[in-house]
Amino acid sequence: MYEHQIQHFLQRHGYICVEPKAALIDMDGTLYDSMPGHADAWVTMMAEQGIAVDRDEFFRFEGRTGASTINILFNRVYGRDATAEEVERLYRRKTELFAAMPPEGPMPGAMDMLSFLRSVGVECVLVTGSGQRTLIDRISRDFPGVFAPGHMITSRDVRHGKPHPEPYFKGMDLIDRRPDECIVIENAPLGVAAGDAAGAFTIGVSTGPIPKSELTDAGAALVFDSMQECAEAMPVVIYGLLTTRRNLN
Ligand code: MG
Repeated sequence: MYEHQIQHFLQRHGYICVEPKAALIDMDGTLYDSMPGHADAWVTMMAEQGIAVDRDEFFRFEGRTGASTINILFNRVYGRDATAEEVERLYRRKTELFAAMPPEGPMPGAMDMLSFLRSVGVECVLVTGSGQRTLIDRISRDFPGVFAPGHMITSRDVRHGKPHPEPYFKGMDLIDRRPDECIVIENAPLGVAAGDAAGAFTIGVSTGPIPKSELTDAGAALVFDSMQECAEAMPVVIYGLLTTRRNLN
């Protein structure tokens, strides 16, 4: 199964095969059902500034740094970038609103997926655009034994947010793996684009209002309707990657 999708990926990247040694995994909307809360916090913060925005839009911005999101909205409304002071103040307010919300649970299926990856020796690294300690601190509690200490790239470690491939390149550097030894698991179009641009076999999981087709268009090699579906398929995906070589004729 997935032979066709894997072949397509190998052709597109010019690889002979993918050896799945490591999984680089996004956090918001992938391991936690945190995106609705983030979107609500953004909408509320912008409303306080007198700026009305479509809530679903924040699912498309997902992966961008806070500054980048604020600048897109400022350019639309005011025709200019936000000042450093505005970025700091507005992002702090958004963070405050998000932190005041009830904590969201792990995404159903996420632990099953991670446990399977660990059981077959695939090393896991968290690659998140978030710098919020509230969520990052919870990772080791909610997913015990999955991420080795320091196996984490956050917004503090990168200059460019997704869709730039830097976060995923940094994740690969951290564990000294090549792109053709890595899979990426992402829920957002910009995150999928970052994973694919970094050369990893990128799996898109539609966990919010963004349709699967947008994840495919962004470069996902495979897409699933939910994390549970992704977790159930993962043994077959890993087996497919281990046994598929590029058809050279
Ligand atoms: Mg995400």
